[in-house]
Amino acid sequence: MILILLGAPGSGKGTQAGRISDMRGIPHISTGDIFRKNVKEGTELGRKAKEYIDKGLLVPDKVTNGIVEDRMSKADCSKGFILDGYPRTTAQAEMLDSVLSRMGVKADAALNIKVPDADVIHRLSGRSVCRCGETYHVDYKTPKKKGICDKCGNKLYVRDDDKQETVRKRLKEYHEKTSPIIDYYRKAGILIDIDGIPLPDMVTESIVDVLKSLETL
Ligand code: AMP
Repeated sequence: MILILLGAPGSGKGTQAGRISDMRGIPHISTGDIFRKNVKEGTELGRKAKEYIDKGLLVPDKVTNGIVEDRMSKADCSKGFILDGYPRTTAQAEMLDSVLSRMGVKADAALNIKVPDADVIHRLSGRSVCRCGETYHVDYKTPKKKGICDKCGNKLYVRDDDKQETVRKRLKEYHEKTSPIIDYYRKAGILIDIDGIPLPDMVTESIVDVLKSLETL
């Protein structure tokens, strides 16, 4: 199964992608995670990406498309994968279509996790994350021990791009460049809206229901 997860920053798509990936045993491909790993490791890609990420801007398509194409060609993607945070522009969506058609496959669905801007700002401003991928929030999900990940015991940190000014720029980028691809997938007949406001477990339930219905088609 090939799934595309769409949604504003902070809509919960990373959390949901991780859960579906665990349930289905297919890789979770997050361009944001790939960039952050490269920034941490100080690679050339990381250096380039950081210039944009720190400003809340999208990394240019020619940088981003290459890393996704490379990741999708790995053996563990042969049974499918979940794209989280990619595509984010119409040019990326078109590029994805052409890569998938070269691979002889098609995306099964583009799940659009819908959350209003005000909720996004509130969610991101209280968020802390762990390098293992777990996410916490001061109001909704606190770790058992302050500042420490329940899952792996590592120290939690606040992402640089979760600062309020950067969050606003990320949202602006989302509305200008990413939201047009909602229509792109609607026209392609694979868009499914998911209400992202309820608690994460309920959002997961809605997604599982959608996946079940896709399988019975
Ligand atoms: P995320 O973790 O998905 O919110 O991504 C964090 C940041 O990485 C974004 O604000 C962008 O600067 C960059 N990024 C992630 N995915 C993409 C993409 N598909 N295209 C361009 N930039 C991206």
